[in-house]
Amino acid sequence: MTSLRGKERQEFPAAVKRAAFRRSCGNKGFPHCEGCGKPLRSGEIIYEHVQPDGLGGTPTADNCKVFGLKCCAAPKTKDDNARMTKADRVLRKNYGLVPAKRKIQSRGFPRSPKQHMATRPIEKRS
Ligand SMILES: [Zn+2]
Repeated sequence: MTSLRGKERQEFPAAVKRAAFRRSCGNKGFPHCEGCGKPLRSGEIIYEHVQPDGLGGTPTADNCKVFGLKCCAAPKTKDDNARMTKADRVLRKNYGLVPAKRKIQSRGFPRSPKQHMATRPIEKRS
């Protein structure tokens, strides 16, 4: 999907993923989450942009981290999506890309009568 600025999403090339995988293995011989250090099994690995692609992050090894799908990727993705949505919203507003406000079509709800609690005559309760 192209972004608002017309930039295509750039996935990591296989060589970058290999370099990140090698880095995450360290000298232990099997991959670890680069967020929390938890050992990862196959199917639990995701390659994440440190600086999100939608906010100008490049698909290089420096910008690629090996994260666990459950432990670190989900909260990061949620946070990144919120930041990118806000960036798009600010861009749309600043460059006049928001649609013009429309008037409400219906008449709206009827107003309730005013209550006049302070000026209402006192009613005696029996
Ligand atoms: Zn983690």
